[in-house]
Amino acid sequence: MPPSPTPARATLVTSIASAWTDLGGGIRVRQSVAYAMNSVLLLHPEHAIVVDPGVLPSELDDLKHAVDEIHPAQVTLFLTHAHWDHVLGRPWWPKARIVAHDRFGAEVRRGRERTLSEAARVAAAHGEEWSAGFEPFVPHEPMSGMRFAKLGPWRVVWRDAFGHCDSQLNLHLPESRTLIAGDMLSDIEIPWLNRPPAAYRATLDALVPLAANGAIETLIPGHGAIARGAEAVRKRIGRDLEYLDALESGVADARREGLSLEQAQEKLGVVSLPVSDLGLMASVQRENVRLAWEAMTKN
Ligand SMILES: [Zn+2]
Repeated sequence: MPPSPTPARATLVTSIASAWTDLGGGIRVRQSVAYAMNSVLLLHPEHAIVVDPGVLPSELDDLKHAVDEIHPAQVTLFLTHAHWDHVLGRPWWPKARIVAHDRFGAEVRRGRERTLSEAARVAAAHGEEWSAGFEPFVPHEPMSGMRFAKLGPWRVVWRDAFGHCDSQLNLHLPESRTLIAGDMLSDIEIPWLNRPPAAYRATLDALVPLAANGAIETLIPGHGAIARGAEAVRKRIGRDLEYLDALESGVADARREGLSLEQAQEKLGVVSLPVSDLGLMASVQRENVRLAWEAMTKN
């Protein structure tokens, strides 16, 4: 017997409704069903900022619709970093001004094949079809270091946020005390390093005084739940710093015990945090151990 249309439709409406979080002041977050990836909209009729729009075509349509509703005079697309799940949305805003790190263009070009194949694979896994293609692009506004700007009513601060990806920037909104963190500070992933832990730690260390002084009361990670309230934000940062401490001291102990890298990866392979995808995080953990190990080999 075919399912009756009523419950199916009810399910659909519920899932779309719960994908959105309205943080007030024009800030809306939409979470994808793919990897719980967060896209952020800063909505104002003068200027809308669209951050990491993705991942499925239907979700991009939904984001586009939310932006179109306010008829913004200008749209800026900010892409936190060049990983495939964060860079797919450009065809939905072909005229938007693009802001990203100055290493972004080269990384996107290198990742072209993977971006396209992952977009197609993940769309298909959720019963959709990726037909937008993917052409590498460069930001109109490449930046690095620390940059202040005022885009319409939005006062924003971009900062280098290395340790996960060499082209990552985070975005701080001092007036609403909100941080868009990129792929860091997730409650469902362990820190995912692409460099020795020092780079990741430097990014977190720069956030500690901001969080301590109450400049971050809402933290939107690239994946997972939004941390709300100064205390929750401080805890989120503290947890990842503790993870880095444990990683480095675990690797140092293994070396003192005379273990090989493979033995250290085996010994330190257990991911004890409540992560969403244990298999994926176990492979991230092995790579994190290798990066910490190699940093110690060099010293
Ligand atoms: Zn990433």
